[in-house]
This record gives sequence, C-alpha cells and structure tokens, in this order.
Amino acid sequence: MTEQHPAADRSAEIAAGLEHVHGRIEAACAAAGRTDRPRLIVVTKTHPAEDVLSLARLGVTDVGENRDQEARPKAEATAGLCAEASVTAPAWHFIGQLQSNKAKHVIRYAAAVHSVDRESLVDALARAMQVRAERAASGEVPAREDLDCLIQVDVDPREPEDRPTDGIGGRGGAAPEDVPALAARIAAAPRLRLRGLMCVAPRGIDPAESFARAADLSARLRDGHPEADRLSMGMTADLEEAVAAGATHLRIGSDILGRRAHLG
Ligand SMILES: *Cc1c(COP(=O)(O)O)cnc(C)c1O
Repeated sequence: MTEQHPAADRSAEIAAGLEHVHGRIEAACAAAGRTDRPRLIVVTKTHPAEDVLSLARLGVTDVGENRDQEARPKAEATAGLCAEASVTAPAWHFIGQLQSNKAKHVIRYAAAVHSVDRESLVDALARAMQVRAERAASGEVPAREDLDCLIQVDVDPREPEDRPTDGIGGRGGAAPEDVPALAARIAAAPRLRLRGLMCVAPRGIDPAESFARAADLSARLRDGHPEADRLSMGMTADLEEAVAAGATHLRIGSDILGRRAHLG
C-alpha cells in the first residue's frame, strides 16, 4: 500500500459521503414508491473549489451556493481546475438570499437561481441578462443560456413574531399569495425561464407538513405554467420527507461534505 496523500483522503471521504446520500435517496424513493429520481444538487458552501473538482470527478453535475461573495471566485477557480483535469464543470445553482445589486454577478456563473422572492429581483435579473446578451452580441463575453428561475416560497404559516430567528432560509421566500404575480413576471421576462418553486422547511414544524404545502403550491403553479415543474426542497435533515412529497431537486450539503465550520 502506498501512503495516501491528504487530497486523496479528502476525495475518498467525499466519495463515501456521496455514496451514503445516494443510498438515502434510493431508500427514500423505494419507500415512497417513486420510480423517478430527484436530481441531487450538492451544496458546496464553505468548502473549497478542490472539493467541487472531486465532486465533478465523481460524476456530480450540479452544485449549490448561497452567497455570491463566496460562489463567484469558487466558480471561477473550479472552471480552471476542471479544464486542467478535463472534467466537465458542474452547473451552479444559486440558492441563497440575493440582493438585486448582485444579480449581474450571479448570472456570470449560475445556471439557475432558486431564491427569486420579489419582483424587483426578477427585474434586476432580467436587466442583467439583457446587458449580458448585448455584450455577447458584440463579442465581449460568451453567450449564455437563459437563466432558470425558481420562486422561493415561504411555507411557514406562523406569524413573523412566532418564528425562530435562526437557521437557514428563515427570512427568505415570497408569501404563497404572491407566487402567481411573481410567476407571471418571470414568464414574461426575456431570457428568464420560469422553472418552479423552492422552499426551506421552517424550523419547529414537521417538514412533511411544510413540503406538502409546497407541493400543493407547485401543483397550482403548474396549472398555468406547465414548464414550472421543478420542486427544489430537502436538505440533509429532511431529505426523506422531501422525496416523499415529490421533490425534483434535493439540496444536500453536510451529509456529503461534512459539517460546516459555521451556519451558512
Ligand atoms: C446550506 C443549504 C442547504 C444544505 O444544507 P445541509 O443541511 O448542509 O444539507 C440547502 N439549502 C439551502 C438554501 C442552504 O443554504
């Protein structure tokens, strides 16, 4: 046996984490009687570009990040590492709260934004895509695909003052009654593609209940917009409930890459 290099150790650890999560997904699909497979987005926040390269080598096609400040340099570094290693770089999904002034940065690397939660952000993304298309037309930058947009919906039925203030996604999401207007605005915007809904299960509520609410809103959205067929929900703690409720995209971080140093 040759002595293992730390990078090889890390890569083996990631492979094991990935295999473990694929096993959870298989078991959850079997339990739910699902024959289709939700897509796995590996959430790489707080982990380096080298980990994303390891994931790409292991066949991961989709990764997620929640902060532009971190994602932007990481996507660039990953592109370089993947080109060097001749592996296909994964698609980037932006899954965190997004300030409108960051829209122009995010569309440089993200294939999809899962956290569209207000009309001003739709307008900012559309404007950024417009500027990008003009620059592409003059040969300044490469052309890019239309941007996949998911509406983040707030499925917490509690009054704001009764909600826990910590945790992921606690402040994000459009009110369910605002979804139709947001959907119409995305659908009408050139270069934006309305693709579905995203939610984060609120803390202190049974996730099955929250995901059922999201699935119901998704069915209603698809009535008028059949192309909006993605339902992005399910993290490390609630993957099984999300699969059972019909998630099409799972966003899993810590169960694959290990615990993060801080809550992000
Ligand atoms: C961090 C994050 C995840 C992944 O969470 P884990 O518990 O590490 O699986 C999923 N969705 C969003 C929006 C996140 O910020």
